Amino acid sequence: MQTSQEVTSRIVYRIDSRDRLIEVDDGWRRFAEANRAWDLAGDSILGCSLWDFIQDAETREIFLSLLARVRSEGISVSLPLRCDSPDTRRYLRLTLSPVPDDGVEFVSETIRTEKRSRIGLLEVTGDKTKDFVQICSWCKRVAVPGGWTEVEFAIAILGLFDESPLPQLSHSICPDCRKDVNNNH
Ligand SMILES: [Zn+2]
Repeated sequence: MQTSQEVTSRIVYRIDSRDRLIEVDDGWRRFAEANRAWDLAGDSILGCSLWDFIQDAETREIFLSLLARVRSEGISVSLPLRCDSPDTRRYLRLTLSPVPDDGVEFVSETIRTEKRSRIGLLEVTGDKTKDFVQICSWCKRVAVPGGWTEVEFAIAILGLFDESPLPQLSHSICPDCRKDVNNNH
């Protein structure tokens, strides 16, 4: 059985000038399969819009500004990013580079992963209450009174242990990440 530890550490994909996926590498396919995202693993993914995969408005805004910079200035931008699953912290570096005809290549490299006890709050399925907890799409920290903190601390601070139902997650960008993204040149 494949586990997340076997997932490739590098994923490369490209979009065209209209932000449609035109190329994904084997790393993408392996990652999709390991996460049982079968609809993302096949060639039917090609031609889909990048924006189909970025749901929340603030993350879209960040990607829009990064893409605009890469295309207009013809430079690569590279940023740290967290892509956690309920039982794994995944530290990535995402690099966007210009390719011909106003396309952009994305390279996502896993810097390191850390196993942890499963965090119920990060599960997408299961019973959820009508309440929302804010999580940063970029660094995966969670909003608590007075700031943003790692999900493990947030659960303790907010008293959200794994009794179900747990609140739902609302994705946004924390002030620190917004600042880092805007300052990245
Ligand atoms: Zn953040």
